Amino acid sequence: MPKKPIFLIFLGPPMSGKGTQAARLSRLLGIPQVSSGDLFRDNIKNQTSLGREAKAYMDRGDLVPDEITIGMVAERLSRPDCADGALLDGFPRTIPQAEELDRILEELGASLSGVLAVNVPEEVLVERASGRRICPVCGRTYHLTFNPPEQGSICDVDGGELYQRDDDLPETVRQRLAVYQEQTSPLVSFYRDRGLLREINGDQPIDDVAKDISGVVMSL
Ligand code: ADP
Ligand code: ADP
Repeated sequence: MPKKPIFLIFLGPPMSGKGTQAARLSRLLGIPQVSSGDLFRDNIKNQTSLGREAKAYMDRGDLVPDEITIGMVAERLSRPDCADGALLDGFPRTIPQAEELDRILEELGASLSGVLAVNVPEEVLVERASGRRICPVCGRTYHLTFNPPEQGSICDVDGGELYQRDDDLPETVRQRLAVYQEQTSPLVSFYRDRGLLREINGDQPIDDVAKDISGVVMSL
């Protein structure tokens, strides 16, 4: 009998560690990480019209409108590498996106396996923001204090010169946290009501969070 695909959502505020943990679980399970933020950043880098439209919202720390975001993610999930599932990092972020995701998965003959809600106190999120650094080549995420590269400010994997995202500056981070509270946090009860929510303590060292996540995923 064919294996049932695994579709998991990483739900949490900016800086909760969604991307870090989704990347690790992706390596462990061999299914792709689908990060809406990364898809937008790729579109900006490639100067597509979608990228141009999204950039203004991202620079302000606001959400990109649902109609742009949903189409982009639906196209990504329809690709062959998602046949065994995907780890959704940063999508959905609004109730309409969540409702649309149900339809997208239904069309693919799949359904949601679970939602990992990564909990981290607000003051810790703000502290993490200032030290986040990204590799421009492979997109890997580091932290100057909590997850530093082996040498200076270059990527361990490919030697790329790490950079700070424009939207990680303090003003924009504050706006992104407010947007999370207002537009994304209602998804916690949305998924809890459907019995899909699994809470993860994200305020622990990265390896310990990863262990908790593996335990939860094995029990699904
Ligand atoms: P973080 O993980 O730090 O929250 P992301 O890389 O997920 O950041 O997102 C960066 C920006 O991309 C968001 O602030 C928003 O402008 C846009 N974005 C990403 N995902 C979505 C989404 N699902 N809906 C709307 N906008 C999104
Ligand atoms: P998100 O995708 O939720 O915005 P990231 O995975 O990009 O979050 O993590 C935000 C920043 O915090 C990064 O610099 C990352 O290296 C760091 N980080 C992630 N998880 C932890 C953790 N458990 N403890 C300390 N720092 C962390």
